[in-house]
Amino acid sequence: MAAKSNILEVSDLKTHFFTEQGVVPAVDGVSFQIKRGGTLGVLGESGCGKSVTGFSILRLVRPPGEIVAGQILYYGRDAVNGDDLAQIDATSEEMRQMRGSEIAMVFQEPMTSLDPLFTVGNQIMEAILYHQDVSKAEARKIAIEMLDKVRMPQPREMIKKYPHQLSGGMRQRVVIAMALSCRPKLLIADEPTTALDVTTEAQILELMRELQEELGMAIMFITHDLGVIAEMAEEVAVMYLGKVVEQSDIESLFTDPQHPYTKALMQSIPKVGQKAEGRLETIRGMVPSPRNIPTGCPFHPRCASFMQGICDTKLPQLKQSKPGHWVSCFLYEDGGGSHSSTPPPAPPQSIGEG
Ligand code: SF4
Repeated sequence: MAAKSNILEVSDLKTHFFTEQGVVPAVDGVSFQIKRGGTLGVLGESGCGKSVTGFSILRLVRPPGEIVAGQILYYGRDAVNGDDLAQIDATSEEMRQMRGSEIAMVFQEPMTSLDPLFTVGNQIMEAILYHQDVSKAEARKIAIEMLDKVRMPQPREMIKKYPHQLSGGMRQRVVIAMALSCRPKLLIADEPTTALDVTTEAQILELMRELQEELGMAIMFITHDLGVIAEMAEEVAVMYLGKVVEQSDIESLFTDPQHPYTKALMQSIPKVGQKAEGRLETIRGMVPSPRNIPTGCPFHPRCASFMQGICDTKLPQLKQSKPGHWVSCFLYEDGGGSHSSTPPPAPPQSIGEG
């Protein structure tokens, strides 16, 4: 059998949180693939389940959260059959080895990953010594090389510094150096530049692209920022309330967005050449609580194309509307991508207003 061209295939993943107030379906039937060496952007507002999806892949979801269904097939160790990460004990040595040496994660806030009590050199070396059979001196050499690779000035001096002695951008470089020190095949980057100023953000994004090319690593890039998605991703999955509502290659998403939520996201960002007096569009209402997901299409209380009796009663499925482009919306149920001729009724009351 031939090796898979994908490094990761997630199918119908469900991660639910069993709280005293009820079950929160944070990830509710998510499917996507990431190509070897490719970049999948996962886009959505806060609370859409994009970070929980990343945590689920690395088996870092803690009680009351639990993966209740689905497959996470990783083809890094076994390129033909893959390993189902959903079936590996999250606390096992096998999963601990998998984290870091096969799949690494970079978070929005570098201090989530860095210990203020140890020098950055010690922390990078610890990751190297845990995953690689090298001496302390070799680990130190690799740590300096990695800091040099992420363009840290004077890496030999920098490894002696504590996290609080570095700027936010430098700390994120350290975290990237730590994540990449064991040359993972997949990097999950969860809003890695959101806390940085725009200049540092541009530098970090460029750095990640260069390192990706050099190491041949795939990236799952989680963000709420369409500009970052446009810069980084080749494929995009748009998430809303725990589900993927649209998925396509980057060009198709930007030239022909189909789901009303994606369209609304696109209309809510400023464009070059837009008149200064023009008002930016906003998405009406608020994201409903995941404890109280609307019936039918979860986006229907906010949707400008809402169709009464259809959108509020049935759940649309993710279907291919044109080659390589999937969308879950009744406007595309016939597969032709044509809009319904039924005029939308008066806007429904949004959850946020109710
Ligand atoms: Fe809007 Fe209906 Fe499509 Fe949902 S299914 S996005 S409510 S048109």
